[in-house]
Amino acid sequence: MTARIIDGKTIAAGLRGNVTDAVHRLRRDRGLVPGLAVVLVGQNPASEVYVRNKSKAVTEAGMYPFDQHLPEDVSEAGLLDLIARLNADENVNGILVQLPLPPQIDSQKVISAIDPAKDVDGFHPLNVGRLASGVAALVPCTPLGCIFLAKTVHASLAGLEAVVIGRSNIVGKPLVQLLLAENATVTIVHSKTRDLETVCRRADLLVAAMGRPEMVRGGWIKPGATVIDVGINRVAGQHAGKSRIVGDVAFSEAAAIAGAITPVPGGVGPMTIACLLLNTLRAACAQKGLPAPQIGK
Ligand code: NDP
Repeated sequence: MTARIIDGKTIAAGLRGNVTDAVHRLRRDRGLVPGLAVVLVGQNPASEVYVRNKSKAVTEAGMYPFDQHLPEDVSEAGLLDLIARLNADENVNGILVQLPLPPQIDSQKVISAIDPAKDVDGFHPLNVGRLASGVAALVPCTPLGCIFLAKTVHASLAGLEAVVIGRSNIVGKPLVQLLLAENATVTIVHSKTRDLETVCRRADLLVAAMGRPEMVRGGWIKPGATVIDVGINRVAGQHAGKSRIVGDVAFSEAAAIAGAITPVPGGVGPMTIACLLLNTLRAACAQKGLPAPQIGK
């Protein structure tokens, strides 16, 4: 069997197109232009690339970017003061603080200071609790992107045996809540799980999010299963000094057994930014008392 490739780039482009259309309608009919503030602290090169890509995507979607770059040595109070100003700014509908933050800053304190209505990353404890309670919430972008991708293969996820590898607050745990909301039967596994391989082989839908290059082998996969690879790992390339990006799944082995699979790069990654734009649009509508845009329903 050769798996169908789930083309995250194309699917994300479609979602971004829908968001862009909705933003144009919002501007035309209501005079509202959603704004997203992305806050970057320090000079982490990977974070700088992420932030640049996010800002470009925001502009392309017809939204306002409010980029904020603070020095590496900014105090926690200084960052909290900026968050308070962004919370109070009516033109800012979404706030995202790029993680990780430098050691002098308590990330959880900063996340908790963001107005939950503007928390487009879905990390605020209120949104975490709302998601777990099955109440409408802003939900983390990467897990939301995984759901969109899975639904391009399965019209309904109800009753599927889903296994999620990784229990982080940004991917694994929220993904479990989203899968439960879709009526999947969910198992979450982690570094202390015994016989990972056997558990994974039960999965109709396997999501790998552990940050371990190509750890999931072909033999871990149930024939015909859908495999979503969240991992982004930089490894040495074939030529000295060169590197390449691989996922958490050994792609060619897995593609020989799975029914559908996401590539890395070009799978989950592009969906994360598309879902950030969708969350910003949803947040802007909710803040103005407008109905939620009917995108991705
Ligand atoms: P974390 O390091 O926060 O969490 C990793 C999880 O994987 C932990 O729960 C850990 O278990 C588990 N794990 C680690 N090693 C093993 C193992 N050998 N066997 C089983 N479970 C294991 O990572 P993130 O959730 O932040 O990210 C996961 C991956 O996804 C990374 O590669 C990251 O780069 C990528 N990522 C991609 C995004 C995208 O847009 N495509 C966005 C976010 C992340 P335990 O809890 O027991 O330690």
